[in-house]
Amino acid sequence: MKALKFRSAWDVDLAEVPDLHVIGDDDVVVDIKFCGVCGTDLGIVSGSYPVAVPGVTLGHEASGIVAETGAAVTTVAPGDRVVINPTPYCGRCRMCQTQRINHCVNKHGTESGVSYDGAYAGKYRTTSAFVHRVPDDVSLRAAALTEPLSCVVAGARKIQPPSLSAFTYVFGAGPLGLLYTWVLSLKGLTPVVIEHSAARLEYARDRLPDGTAAYASLEEARTKYFNDPQAPIDIVVDTTSMLLEDLFPQMAPGGTYMSIGLKEKLASIDTMLLADRSLSVIGSIDSLHGSFTEAFHLITTGRIPAERLVSHVIPLDDFATGFAALGCDIDGKRFGPADQASCKVLIAPGGIDE
Ligand SMILES: [Zn+2]
Ligand SMILES: [Zn+2]
Repeated sequence: MKALKFRSAWDVDLAEVPDLHVIGDDDVVVDIKFCGVCGTDLGIVSGSYPVAVPGVTLGHEASGIVAETGAAVTTVAPGDRVVINPTPYCGRCRMCQTQRINHCVNKHGTESGVSYDGAYAGKYRTTSAFVHRVPDDVSLRAAALTEPLSCVVAGARKIQPPSLSAFTYVFGAGPLGLLYTWVLSLKGLTPVVIEHSAARLEYARDRLPDGTAAYASLEEARTKYFNDPQAPIDIVVDTTSMLLEDLFPQMAPGGTYMSIGLKEKLASIDTMLLADRSLSVIGSIDSLHGSFTEAFHLITTGRIPAERLVSHVIPLDDFATGFAALGCDIDGKRFGPADQASCKVLIAPGGIDE
């Protein structure tokens, strides 16, 4: 089978590797249909998020069809359509036992697409607790967004709005920006999205929850949506990593700033303001207890139109085209802002048809 291998920054290749088969009684091997390109992958490939083990197969946001099951597996069978939870945790370390499974200290060697062979490949091997059957009326394309949505659900739990009328801004209309907009909207908030790329802005405008809107700048959002150039900033979701220093002094008292980008950026903030205005600066990564189940529910019930956020489905052989759609030019070794009408890009090892 083919697998997209990470060697070092900007050095990835499609290698021919032996097919995977079950080893343990609880193993499940999945024929991968779709695997989403994540900011994590862009950071690994471009070298800005140096977490991957050289030689690992990348990819972690996947759905597919069960190919083989171990003797003890009763929950799924070959032929079942499934989504994969790529984030195993040990359940025994202090992080796991104190509600922080996303920071399990025993993750090394188990983290799909980072330290364990991931899903930009013909097949992926996991255990039965980490695959979930997808209902017949839900596409495997939609199901592939379960993991990024799970990360958003986990992050959104940390945002405690002072009021449902809180002025809420989501910066960046990529997959996480749009998924945050949907989740916060389901929680009763009315976020506005800010996106500089004209192509991405137009793409996003068609895919927003009712009552929300997207603009090219903060100024435009304040004047056009809130009819006030000085409209307060109560809640920020920053998917860009870049805005804390600028926006922090403008936060309204009691405000919350959520930063979820994985680009390195130093910022200095005034700790007197932090206290005096009761501000919260928070971050979030990965899934937490139950967030995968919550995300799967939101997708399978159609509460979040996951498939509409899929802008590209690209065969595995053309993976570089998929990365380029998100601003990551592997041949040219350049990573800049995405300027195409792109949102979630799916790589399709089993062909682009559902
Ligand atoms: Zn991801
Ligand atoms: Zn653990």
